[in-house]
This record gives sequence, structure tokens and C-alpha cells, in this order.
Amino acid sequence: PTSLNALADEYLKIAYQGLRAKDKSFECTLVTEYDADLGQVNVVPQEIGRVLLNLYNNAFYAVRERQQHADSSYLPTVRVTTEKTPEGVQIRVADNGTGIPESMKQKIFQPFFTTKPTGEGTGLGLSLSYDIITKGHGGTLRVESQAGDGTAFFIELPQRQKSD
Ligand code: ADP
Ligand code: MG
Repeated sequence: PTSLNALADEYLKIAYQGLRAKDKSFECTLVTEYDADLGQVNVVPQEIGRVLLNLYNNAFYAVRERQQHADSSYLPTVRVTTEKTPEGVQIRVADNGTGIPESMKQKIFQPFFTTKPTGEGTGLGLSLSYDIITKGHGGTLRVESQAGDGTAFFIELPQRQKSD
């Protein structure tokens, strides 16, 4: 049994600090809302951590990219929200970065799809994340995005696994 609030927060800090170690000028507002009633969920913590790390890194990348073309009033923000749902739990990772064009939304979960330059992305993060959440944990992973506005990924996990 794992506390997803603690896991989500721990990996958020790892991702942000890792990025700041490489780019000291990068600053991003982190907004976190953790549902205290989430309880413990049966997951493989390293696998969910890997999914979160990828979603966070993607979010930070998207706000940094937008910042390069934005005026000084732009405030990069990443929001992490957890919520108890009737079936289990939901983790939402949202950013106000570049967003994803409609035509690209189906492709992002395919292996090797990336819009990042060589060395900055393998295009494997979301396809691996999709498998971990759906095949590995019986959950769902979906995206909502508006190009130029921002993106939100939703992880839904059942409270209990089939094997429980
Ligand atoms: P990678 O990060 O190596 O490119 P991913 O599978 O993690 O591979 O993501 C695939 C692509 O989906 C990214 O290259 C990017 O175009 C798009 N994407 C993912 N997350 C976001 C996001 N938060 N905002 C904008 N685009 C995103
Ligand atoms: Mg990625």
C-alpha cells in the first residue's frame, strides 16, 4: 500500500530540483492540492513514480518552451491535484505550457513520438506510462489540452487491484 500524495509530492520535488540544478534561472510556480482522504493504494511505487516523473518533466519542458516566446507577465505554473473518485483515485498533472495541437493528441502515446530535439526526448515516456497505468495497474491515462494554453494529464487508478 502506497500513499500517492507522498509519492506525487516526492517526485515533483525531484523533477523540479533536477531541472533547477541544470538551469538555475528556471523558476516555476508549483501548486499542489492533495486530497487528505486519498488513503493508501496498492501500486508499484517505482512504476507510478516513473510515470509521474515523466509527466512532470514534460510539463516543465512545456512551460519553459512557452516562456521563451512569452512576455514577462507569463508565470510558468505546474499544478498537481489528487482526488478520491468513486472507483479509486485520480492524479492530475496540469501545466500552462505550449499545449498540444488537436492533430497530435493521438500520436503522443505512440512509442518514439517526440517533438523534442535529439538528446532531449526519446518519445518513449508516454507510451511507457500508458502501459504502466493501463496494463500494469488497471487504470486509465488521458490528456486534455489546448494548443497555446496548456495541458492536463489525468491518471486514474482503481483503489484495489484485481489480485487483492
Ligand atoms: P518525450 O518527452 O521524450 O518527447 P513523451 O512520450 O514523454 O516523449 O512525450 C511525447 C510528446 O508529447 C512530446 O515530445 C511533446 O510533443 C508531447 N507532450 C507531452 N507532454 C506534454 C505537455 N505537458 N505539454 C505539451 N506537449 C507535451
Ligand atoms: Mg517525456
